[in-house]
Amino acid sequence: MKTHLPTNHHDTLQRFVFENTPVRGNLVNLTQTFQQALNQQQLPQGLRSALGELMAASALLAATLKMHGALVLQIQSKGALKLLVVECNSDVDQSLKMRATAKWSGNVTDEQNLFELIEHGQFIITLDPKSEDGSQAYQGIVPLEGDSISAVLENYMLRSEQIDTKIWLCCDGDSAAGMLIQKLPESTNQVTQPQTQDSDTWNRICYLASTVTDDELLNLPTETLLTRLFNKEDVRLFEANATQFHCRCSRESVADMLRMLGNEELTGIIEELGNIEVNCDFCNKHYVFDKVDAAQLMVTETVIATSLKIH
Ligand SMILES: [Zn+2]
Repeated sequence: MKTHLPTNHHDTLQRFVFENTPVRGNLVNLTQTFQQALNQQQLPQGLRSALGELMAASALLAATLKMHGALVLQIQSKGALKLLVVECNSDVDQSLKMRATAKWSGNVTDEQNLFELIEHGQFIITLDPKSEDGSQAYQGIVPLEGDSISAVLENYMLRSEQIDTKIWLCCDGDSAAGMLIQKLPESTNQVTQPQTQDSDTWNRICYLASTVTDDELLNLPTETLLTRLFNKEDVRLFEANATQFHCRCSRESVADMLRMLGNEELTGIIEELGNIEVNCDFCNKHYVFDKVDAAQLMVTETVIATSLKIH
């Protein structure tokens, strides 16, 4: 195996390819990223683990799609679970910045698993390239099919992207990890191999990959894990990308949101409560706008309204 020097596998995303085959993969481990994203939220254990798996999945997909911008994965349902949402931003420096949150109603116990809480579930994937070259945002919505997050994503990739993909995800409450293996479609397959050979290779690699355990995914350094799973294959491992928790909320973004409520609504809240208080669902940061701050929000709106009238 040709590899870079081993690095600490915590909070990294690492891409690898099986040389001379159309098969490639990614491995991710989220430890501090996971803890910082979720430790300030009081989540039932089952939902916390599900959100960890979804975070790992978002990093694997963001790396696969090699996009710069935001990838948002959401599971929405009409059951006790209302929403799981994970946002993964890939930066120009190749690092992955992530945040996540969940909404539910009623009493959800630690033991309940995600799929017991879902009714009429939908899986929504949003790609927002945030580029200046005019690339459009894309949103795909599919019904939730499968009894695990990995099955839902595999179905999505096969149906919407027509790409054979296998995904393994796990979360032990302290960290989340995952592996993705993918067979590139023929058009992007640079290697001239007979199709049967490709298909044999794919089946063999999937079989080897399927022997992975949660313990191995969570605890083994990337290189050790790949050697253990694929020791007879020619695997090339690329340099690791860092992952980290980052919430992009700010006082300005909260102010913008409040302005959209309109003067009447804002005045009503101030009269009733004295202050306007907003909590960020992702990082739990608390924003307070007192009477003076609120008046400034409204002044700005008046100025905008006036200048619109002039034109
Ligand atoms: Zn925030």
